[in-house]
Amino acid sequence: MKLIILDRDGVINFDSAQFIKSPAEWKPIPGSPEAIAKLNQAGYRVVVATNQSGVGRGLFDMDTLNAIHDKMHKTVTAAGGRIDAIFYCPHAADSDCACRKPKPGMFQRIAGVYNVDLEGVPTVGDSLRDLVAGTSQGCAPYLVLTGKGEKTQADGGLPEGTQVFPDLAAAVDHLLAAPPRTAR
Ligand SMILES: [Mg+2]
Ligand SMILES: [Zn+2]
Repeated sequence: MKLIILDRDGVINFDSAQFIKSPAEWKPIPGSPEAIAKLNQAGYRVVVATNQSGVGRGLFDMDTLNAIHDKMHKTVTAAGGRIDAIFYCPHAADSDCACRKPKPGMFQRIAGVYNVDLEGVPTVGDSLRDLVAGTSQGCAPYLVLTGKGEKTQADGGLPEGTQVFPDLAAAVDHLLAAPPRTAR
């Protein structure tokens, strides 16, 4: 089974320092829904792993998060694609949970649910914590320069082997042309 794990904010949709607190604030980055469709067509299951501490901070509730994800699903479906599952951490940054990236909890959960080893599984993020959480489980790191990506690249310290792309569409085009050797 081919699997890919995507961050949400700054990868699929535009990020906001004020959090994405409503479906209206969720706006896709051009080309990202179509890139997910291309992944599906190439046989990839597309899974999202996203920190959503706005829930834990009381900025929005679970009904709203579900409504935001409903909009994301519909947007991707309209582009001919499908997000297989969304894993989220709703906890506040100071909660010391096991799932908030850079902690690996969501990735371990994905490995369990899909019963796969994440070695070589591509993971795409715009923040260092996305890549660190993934590479701790063996994922191949892809940094996109959308969202916080340019700052992440400038800050440096990226995991060894990180590949950098302008956006998800470019990362996917590269991945489909030259999959990582160990991808499964
Ligand atoms: Mg992000
Ligand atoms: Zn958490």
